[in-house]
Amino acid sequence: MSQQLPEFIDPFHQADKRGQLHGHLAVKNLRRLTDILYSNEGDFAVFMVFGKEGRQAFCELSLDGAVYLKCQNCLESIEFKINTMTKLGMVNSFEQADKLSDEYEPLLIKDEKVLLNDMIEDELLLLIPVFPKHTHCKFESLSSLSLVRPTLNQAAVIKKNPFSILSDLKKNGE
Ligand SMILES: [Zn+2]
Repeated sequence: MSQQLPEFIDPFHQADKRGQLHGHLAVKNLRRLTDILYSNEGDFAVFMVFGKEGRQAFCELSLDGAVYLKCQNCLESIEFKINTMTKLGMVNSFEQADKLSDEYEPLLIKDEKVLLNDMIEDELLLLIPVFPKHTHCKFESLSSLSLVRPTLNQAAVIKKNPFSILSDLKKNGE
Protein backbone atom coordinates (compact mmCIF):
# COMPACT_ATOMS: atom_id res chain seq x y z
CA MET A 1 0.00 0.00 0.00
CA SER A 2 1.35 3.39 -0.99
CA GLN A 3 1.70 6.26 1.49
CA GLN A 4 1.37 8.65 -1.42
CA LEU A 5 -2.15 9.38 -2.63
CA PRO A 6 -2.52 9.42 -6.41
CA GLU A 7 -3.67 12.64 -8.05
CA PHE A 8 -6.41 10.87 -10.03
CA ILE A 9 -8.30 7.68 -9.31
CA ASP A 10 -10.72 5.53 -11.28
CA PRO A 11 -13.24 4.72 -8.55
CA PHE A 12 -15.07 1.93 -10.41
CA HIS A 13 -11.79 0.25 -11.25
CA GLN A 14 -10.70 0.58 -7.61
CA ALA A 15 -14.01 -1.01 -6.55
CA ASP A 16 -13.52 -3.93 -8.99
CA LYS A 17 -10.09 -4.72 -7.61
CA ARG A 18 -11.09 -3.92 -3.98
CA GLY A 19 -8.37 -1.33 -3.80
CA GLN A 20 -7.14 0.48 -0.69
CA LEU A 21 -5.43 3.84 -0.66
CA HIS A 22 -3.99 5.79 2.17
CA GLY A 23 -1.81 8.79 2.67
CA HIS A 24 -1.83 12.42 3.76
CA LEU A 25 -3.48 15.39 2.20
CA ALA A 26 -2.39 18.97 2.96
CA VAL A 27 -5.22 21.41 3.66
CA LYS A 28 -3.39 24.11 1.65
CA ASN A 29 -3.99 22.08 -1.55
CA LEU A 30 -7.77 22.30 -1.15
CA ARG A 31 -8.51 25.67 -2.70
CA ARG A 32 -12.30 25.82 -2.25
CA LEU A 33 -11.81 24.88 1.39
CA THR A 34 -9.00 27.33 2.15
CA ASP A 35 -11.23 30.15 0.85
CA ILE A 36 -13.44 29.75 3.94
CA LEU A 37 -10.78 28.83 6.51
CA TYR A 38 -8.92 30.98 9.04
CA SER A 39 -5.63 29.41 7.99
CA ASN A 40 -4.55 26.69 5.56
CA GLU A 41 -2.35 24.87 8.09
CA GLY A 42 -2.74 21.21 8.81
CA ASP A 43 -3.30 17.99 6.97
CA PHE A 44 -5.54 14.96 6.90
CA ALA A 45 -4.81 11.29 7.15
CA VAL A 46 -6.88 9.71 4.38
CA PHE A 47 -7.86 6.06 4.25
CA MET A 48 -9.97 4.69 1.42
CA VAL A 49 -11.33 1.18 1.06
CA PHE A 50 -13.08 0.30 -2.20
CA GLY A 51 -15.32 -2.64 -2.88
CA LYS A 52 -18.66 -3.93 -4.09
CA GLU A 53 -21.78 -4.98 -2.27
CA GLY A 54 -23.81 -6.90 -4.83
CA ARG A 55 -23.58 -4.69 -7.89
CA GLN A 56 -23.12 -1.51 -5.89
CA ALA A 57 -19.59 -0.12 -6.03
CA PHE A 58 -18.66 1.78 -2.90
CA CYS A 59 -15.81 3.61 -1.22
CA GLU A 60 -15.35 3.96 2.53
CA LEU A 61 -13.61 7.26 2.98
CA SER A 62 -12.03 7.89 6.39
CA LEU A 63 -10.61 11.29 7.24
CA ASP A 64 -8.68 12.19 10.36
CA GLY A 65 -7.32 15.67 10.92
CA ALA A 66 -8.27 19.25 11.72
CA VAL A 67 -8.94 22.53 9.98
CA TYR A 68 -8.87 26.06 11.38
CA LEU A 69 -12.18 27.82 10.95
CA LYS A 70 -12.90 31.51 11.43
CA CYS A 71 -15.18 32.19 14.41
CA GLN A 72 -18.13 34.23 13.15
CA ASN A 73 -18.26 36.05 16.47
CA CYS A 74 -14.67 37.14 17.22
CA LEU A 75 -13.05 36.30 13.82
CA GLU A 76 -10.32 34.34 15.59
CA SER A 77 -9.34 30.78 14.77
CA ILE A 78 -11.21 27.67 15.91
CA GLU A 79 -9.67 24.25 15.63
CA PHE A 80 -12.28 21.94 14.13
CA LYS A 81 -11.34 18.28 14.40
CA ILE A 82 -12.62 15.88 11.80
CA ASN A 83 -12.51 12.16 12.39
CA THR A 84 -15.09 10.55 10.20
CA MET A 85 -15.89 7.62 7.95
CA THR A 86 -18.33 8.06 5.08
CA LYS A 87 -19.60 5.24 2.94
CA LEU A 88 -19.91 6.54 -0.59
CA GLY A 89 -22.03 4.68 -3.12
CA MET A 90 -20.78 5.29 -6.66
CA VAL A 91 -23.39 6.36 -9.18
CA ASN A 92 -23.33 7.64 -12.77
CA SER A 93 -26.53 9.65 -12.71
CA PHE A 94 -29.01 11.42 -10.45
CA GLU A 95 -31.56 8.61 -11.11
CA GLN A 96 -29.07 6.10 -9.73
CA ALA A 97 -28.40 8.39 -6.78
CA ASP A 98 -32.15 8.42 -5.99
CA LYS A 99 -32.25 4.63 -5.94
CA LEU A 100 -29.23 4.34 -3.67
CA SER A 101 -29.82 2.66 -0.30
CA ASP A 102 -29.72 4.93 2.77
CA GLU A 103 -26.46 3.46 4.03
CA TYR A 104 -24.58 5.25 1.24
CA GLU A 105 -23.87 8.87 0.48
CA PRO A 106 -24.04 9.25 -3.29
CA LEU A 107 -20.77 9.83 -5.09
CA LEU A 108 -21.62 11.05 -8.58
CA ILE A 109 -18.94 10.02 -11.05
CA LYS A 110 -18.95 11.60 -14.48
CA ASP A 111 -15.53 10.57 -15.75
CA GLU A 112 -13.34 7.51 -15.41
CA LYS A 113 -10.70 9.66 -13.78
CA VAL A 114 -11.63 11.55 -10.65
CA LEU A 115 -9.40 14.17 -9.08
CA LEU A 116 -8.92 12.74 -5.61
CA ASN A 117 -8.44 16.13 -3.92
CA ASP A 118 -11.79 17.29 -5.33
CA MET A 119 -13.58 14.20 -4.10
CA ILE A 120 -12.19 14.61 -0.56
CA GLU A 121 -12.75 18.35 -0.57
CA ASP A 122 -16.45 17.81 -1.41
CA GLU A 123 -16.75 15.61 1.68
CA LEU A 124 -14.95 18.11 3.91
CA LEU A 125 -17.15 20.98 2.73
CA LEU A 126 -20.22 18.99 3.81
CA LEU A 127 -18.76 18.39 7.28
CA ILE A 128 -17.79 21.96 8.11
CA PRO A 129 -20.33 24.17 9.92
CA VAL A 130 -21.58 27.18 7.94
CA PHE A 131 -21.44 29.58 10.92
CA PRO A 132 -18.66 28.34 13.19
CA LYS A 133 -18.43 29.93 16.66
CA HIS A 134 -16.30 29.29 19.73
CA THR A 135 -18.36 27.82 22.55
CA HIS A 136 -16.66 30.33 24.89
CA CYS A 137 -17.64 33.17 22.57
CA LYS A 138 -21.07 33.09 24.24
CA PHE A 139 -19.30 34.17 27.43
CA GLU A 140 -17.36 36.82 25.57
CA SER A 141 -20.58 38.31 24.32
CA LEU A 142 -21.98 38.11 27.87
CA SER A 143 -18.95 39.96 29.22
CA SER A 144 -19.44 42.65 26.59
CA LEU A 145 -23.05 42.86 27.81
CA SER A 146 -21.83 43.25 31.37
CA LEU A 147 -19.83 46.26 30.17
CA VAL A 148 -23.16 47.77 29.19
CA ARG A 149 -24.96 46.68 32.32
CA PRO A 150 -23.27 49.05 34.81
CA THR A 151 -24.52 51.97 32.74
CA LEU A 152 -28.00 50.45 32.74
CA ASN A 153 -27.75 49.92 36.50
CA GLN A 154 -26.60 53.48 37.01
CA ALA A 155 -29.53 54.69 34.95
CA ALA A 156 -31.82 52.49 37.01
CA VAL A 157 -30.35 53.88 40.22
CA ILE A 158 -30.87 57.43 39.01
CA LYS A 159 -34.44 56.63 37.98
CA LYS A 160 -35.12 54.84 41.22
CA ASN A 161 -33.80 57.59 43.47
CA PRO A 162 -36.53 60.16 42.90
CA PHE A 163 -39.12 57.56 43.89
CA SER A 164 -37.26 56.47 46.95
CA ILE A 165 -36.83 60.14 47.82
CA LEU A 166 -40.57 60.60 47.28
CA SER A 167 -41.45 57.61 49.41
CA ASP A 168 -39.01 58.82 52.01
CA LEU A 169 -40.72 62.20 51.91
CA LYS A 170 -44.15 60.47 52.22
CA LYS A 171 -42.95 58.38 55.11
CA ASN A 172 -41.64 61.51 56.75
CA GLY A 173 -44.90 63.31 56.06
CA GLU A 174 -47.07 60.61 57.63
ZN1 LIG B 1 -14.87 33.37 18.86
